[in-house]
Amino acid sequence: MNKPVEAQNLATVDLWVGGRRQSASSTRFGDVTNPATGAVTRKVPFCNAADIDAAVKGTAAALPGWRDTPPLRRARVMQKYLQLLQANQKELARLISEEHGKTLPDATGSVQRGIEVVEFACGIPHLLKGEHSENVGTGVDCHTVRQPIGVCAGVTPFNFPVMVPLWMFPVAIACGNTFVLKPSEKVPSASMRMAELFKEAGLPDGVLNVVHGDKEAVDAILAHPGIHAVSFVGSTPIARHIYETCAKNGKRVQALGGAKNHAVVLPDADLEFAADALIGAGYGSAGERCMAISAVVAVGAAADPLVKLLKQKAEAIIVGPGDKEGVDMGPLVTAQHRDKVSGYIDQGVKEGAKLVVDGRGQKVPGYENGFFLGTTLFDHVTPGMKVYQDEIFGPVLVVLRADSLEDAIALVNRSPYANGTAIFTESGGAARRFENEIQVGMVGVNVPIPVPVAFYSFGGWKNSLFGDLHMHGMEGVKFYTRTKAITSRWPHQDTPAPGLNMPTLG
Ligand code: NAD
Repeated sequence: MNKPVEAQNLATVDLWVGGRRQSASSTRFGDVTNPATGAVTRKVPFCNAADIDAAVKGTAAALPGWRDTPPLRRARVMQKYLQLLQANQKELARLISEEHGKTLPDATGSVQRGIEVVEFACGIPHLLKGEHSENVGTGVDCHTVRQPIGVCAGVTPFNFPVMVPLWMFPVAIACGNTFVLKPSEKVPSASMRMAELFKEAGLPDGVLNVVHGDKEAVDAILAHPGIHAVSFVGSTPIARHIYETCAKNGKRVQALGGAKNHAVVLPDADLEFAADALIGAGYGSAGERCMAISAVVAVGAAADPLVKLLKQKAEAIIVGPGDKEGVDMGPLVTAQHRDKVSGYIDQGVKEGAKLVVDGRGQKVPGYENGFFLGTTLFDHVTPGMKVYQDEIFGPVLVVLRADSLEDAIALVNRSPYANGTAIFTESGGAARRFENEIQVGMVGVNVPIPVPVAFYSFGGWKNSLFGDLHMHGMEGVKFYTRTKAITSRWPHQDTPAPGLNMPTLG
């Protein structure tokens, strides 16, 4: 990291500012790697405060024109963008797989989930409609309008290079705002392509901008007086920092954090079905999903047969480069992250958890420098262990045992994280109780990864989200607009003029 770019003779990722590719003024750069080969493929500039200021000034200049563009015309740009994203879905998936490491089918699915937010944003004329009440007082009407906030910014994590940015900027832009996106420095290329395609769809220059960097760039965004709202998705400590700093600086903020998602499996569940679902949810994308199931709570007699099934299925997973057909699970994003996850496996063994499947030392022939780790399964994990408490963000699934549904619910509710959870059961009564009592933002019933569709909202509770409003759906529209309530009277000879007392209108 941070070596002079000239020394490496590699292509540098540009910024997207003012509707065109530009270079940063910063002289700091980071490495972008291909996790399957371990090779550094590109350099990414780490923007400084001057780079951020230039992007914000440009996008602020584009704001009046875009804000005053009728929502129907904005929706037409969205419709064209939708078509272009669909037409370029494969290319975007390839960019994701190349920089993140996940398999191409998995990457394609994540692009599709992002595209669905653009589809939602195409309905913006309807979504922005306000309320109207006639005669709130004699001859007095009241109506509300939703107006854009201004310049918005988004800071996104490495694990969904397309989907998470698409949770943010299409809704913000459809609402009439302009946007500065700072994607993860580990996966910068897909955002550049998405910005290019938006221009091709007819988006005016300056409405969407892409800057790159690390803490320096993010802190410049948080401090910039020209930015009115910040959307963040990433780990919990950074989400807290973003939330607190934005609040102090008077910015609207939504900051989604990390997760430790539990799946509760009751003895009456179809265990074969549950095990398949848990394997997909635990090891898909190498466990690098904020909605990954990382803790299984096996209730009563479900535990032994479930662990047996999980072991068989975890051992059958094929690990390899994400772009190779037949591969189930790709590498982790960086060597440093792979080593961190591997360190958690060492720690779990030391803490006394039973190591059922050990993913350490995974070799992939021909890809000896890739950041691979195999699947790991721990049984007899207890709440005091670090492998349970921490978000590991890798292919490590831990099984805890509970005596009853009540104990399982209490265990899940004690976790400081509360992004997603799932229950596997054949009992409607047990599922209903779980839905009602569980203190988690997104709940699945026999659905392991309950990521809401685009016209619902995405967000967790507790340390998984700081702020009031979730991403996309109507919550997204609310986040990116301010409500204005207008009370009007058209006086004529019969209505007395208002006096000095508090108006009651009636
Ligand atoms: P991260 O918190 O390290 O980075 C996220 C973003 O913050 C990046 O753009 C990064 O450049 C920036 N950043 C990093 N350190 C910073 C600092 N000190 N100050 C300011 N900005 C900083 O997260 P990550 O490793 O990229 O992504 C994985 C994390 O994201 C996991 O914890 C995962 O659970 C979480 N995540 C959450 C959701 C959700 O919806 N809740 C979705 C996806 C990922």
